[in-house]
Order: sequence, then C-alpha cells, then structure tokens
Amino acid sequence: MKTVNINASKSYEVYIEKGSLKTAGELAKKISKGTKAAVISDSNVAPIYGETVLDSLRSAGFEADMFVIEAGESSKNPENLVEGANFLLEKGLTRSDIVVAMGGGVITDLGGLLAAMYQRGISLLQIPTSLLAMVDSSVGGKTAVNLKSGKNMFGVFYQPSAVLCDSEVLGTLPVEEFSNGIAEVIKYAVLRGGKLVDILEKSDVTPYLDELIEECVNIKRDYVVSDEFDRGDRQFLNLGHTVGHAIERGSNFSVAHGSAVAAGMCIMARACEKIGVSSADTSKWIEKMCEKFALPTDTDISLEELYNDSMADKKREGKSLSFVMIKSVGECYLNKTDATYMKEILTLGNGGER
Ligand code: ADP
Ligand code: ZN
Repeated sequence: MKTVNINASKSYEVYIEKGSLKTAGELAKKISKGTKAAVISDSNVAPIYGETVLDSLRSAGFEADMFVIEAGESSKNPENLVEGANFLLEKGLTRSDIVVAMGGGVITDLGGLLAAMYQRGISLLQIPTSLLAMVDSSVGGKTAVNLKSGKNMFGVFYQPSAVLCDSEVLGTLPVEEFSNGIAEVIKYAVLRGGKLVDILEKSDVTPYLDELIEECVNIKRDYVVSDEFDRGDRQFLNLGHTVGHAIERGSNFSVAHGSAVAAGMCIMARACEKIGVSSADTSKWIEKMCEKFALPTDTDISLEELYNDSMADKKREGKSLSFVMIKSVGECYLNKTDATYMKEILTLGNGGER
C-alpha cells in the first residue's frame, strides 16, 4: 500500500493500492467512531462498485446506505446537495458518523461539500474512481457544486479524513475519461519532470498506475500544503488552465476539461517557444504525449472568442493574470502580468507572429 500524508489544516492520508476498494470499511472504522455510514455515488459507479463498498462497511460494523445521483456534470447542483442532506438526516446520521463519497470529480466535489455542511461538518472518506479525481480532487480539499451561471461557484475548502485510490476501478472507466485524467498527469510531468515523464513514455501505463497516482498526489501535495487557500504557489497547478478554461467556456462545455487543458498546455508551450523561453523539443514532447493519449493539441475556437472568455476567468485578480510559463519539461515559472498578455499568448500559440 502506498501512502501519501497530506499535512494541510488537518492531517490525513491518501492510500493508493490496486484492489483496495474492499478495505474501505476497515479504513472508515479507523477514521470514524460512528455507527452509520452513507455512501454518495452516481448512476454509473454505484451499480459496479456500490455493493463491494457497502459490504465492506457493513463487515466493519457500520449501518450503511447509499445515495445515488444521476451521472454527469449537470447533477452537481444545489438541489442534489439538499437532497443528499435530507437523505443523511432520514438515515439518522449524526456528527460522529461518516460520509463516503465514491465516484468521479462530480461526486467527490458534491459529496465533499455535503460532508462539510451536514450538521456543520461530518467525517469524510473520499474514494475517487476516475483518474482525474484521483490525481486532482483527492488533494486540496476543494468542494463545490455548480450554480446556473458558473461552475464550482458554490463551495468551501473541506479536508477529508482519508482518501482511498484503488487503481483497479480505472479498468471500467471509459477511455475518453481516462484521457481526461491523463491531461492533468501530463501537467504534473511538465511542472516537475522526473518519474512521471518516464511512466508517460511507456508503451502501456497500466502496470504503473499506482506509481503514477502516487507521484501526482505527491506533486499536488507539495503545491497545496504550502498554499492551502489558493493565494500563491497553487497557481502553478493552473498550467494550461487559463487558456483551457476559455476553451471549455467557448465550446459551451462540450470540450471536456482534460481536452481543454491539453490544448491549453500545447498553446502555452508553443507561445513560450516563440517568445524564446523554451526550446522546440518542449512543445514537441507535450504535443506527442497529448496525441498518444488521444488528447487535442489545438482548438477550433477563434482567438477573439478565447480572449474574451479568458478575460472573464475567475482566477483573474483585477487586471493582472498569472500565467504558468513553460521553460522545459520539468521547469515552469509564474509570470504575473497584465491580463491582456493573453492575446499575445493565444496569437503566438496558434502559429501567429507578434
Ligand atoms: P471527473 O472527470 O471530474 O471525474 P465525473 O464525476 O463526471 O467527472 O466522472 C466522469 C464519468 O466517468 C462519469 O460518467 C462517471 O460516472 C464515470 N466514472 C467514474 N469513475 C468510473 C469508474 N471507475 N468506472 C466507470 N465509470 C466511471
Ligand atoms: Zn484541471
């Protein structure tokens, strides 16, 4: 079992092991003195893994029930949050009991917020089942639901008591969802280089998934622990995201997050090359990895549209924006500059000239 300690405002462990789903009950017992457990999951994940987790919780002595919401981003709404809270109350959960959020990012975000708010905070065990949720949502304590006019606009920071990543469940994840997660893995590789670069270059990454997840969690931990509330160093994790968010919005969210981030990183890398910050092999490597995992390296959305959208990015503080510039694979730096610099990045990253 690989274990990564996250020492945020609360200290907790991320456990990574193939086949560990059936140990969820034991783990829940370790972190909660309660007698009741509620699993929150979605309509794709619950039918495949619900019984395993419920059985495990019951064997560990919990009275366990499951609340299932329809799979998909549109379920990440305040209505389901309130329904979930009503479910917990109906089942009689008290503050000493435990919520188990099992699913992709939609569930870890919604389940996390539910745990944070129910009776002002109840223990939370996160079981991310998509690669994206394992490498991205399992560290950082960000929870949220979407509001009608903005994604993730309604949430809090809330640290779980533990996170369990069973890479075996990735076997049933649709390939495009796997690629979606790999985009963030490529991001970590570009930020830090090292082991992840070697793993990503393997002809088949499947045997290395535990190592890959561990490395991503370690990297994210380093950025997050030094900056729990997202004011400084965490900004590195936005590599490819400023342009990526614009692509997501510009496509009306028909382009998936991972695909948008992949294209965002490629645009950034090509722009950095044109500016003379990085050498040609840097953008080539990133493009090669994106292509290998069926991720886009570009976008059809017009520069004007992307530019206007990115000006509305929530990460923008006043008129300045922090761009994560790529020097080489494994070396990036922050460039806090006027938001209009975005225009130059987009032009250069799309093959234009200054
Ligand atoms: P994210 O990409 O942020 O993790 P979702 O929570 O929407 O977003 O998960 C992506 C999709 O993959 C959803 O349809 C979800 O039901 C599905 N999914 C998540 N984990 C698994 C899994 N292990 N097996 C099969 N489908 C899964
Ligand atoms: Zn992301």
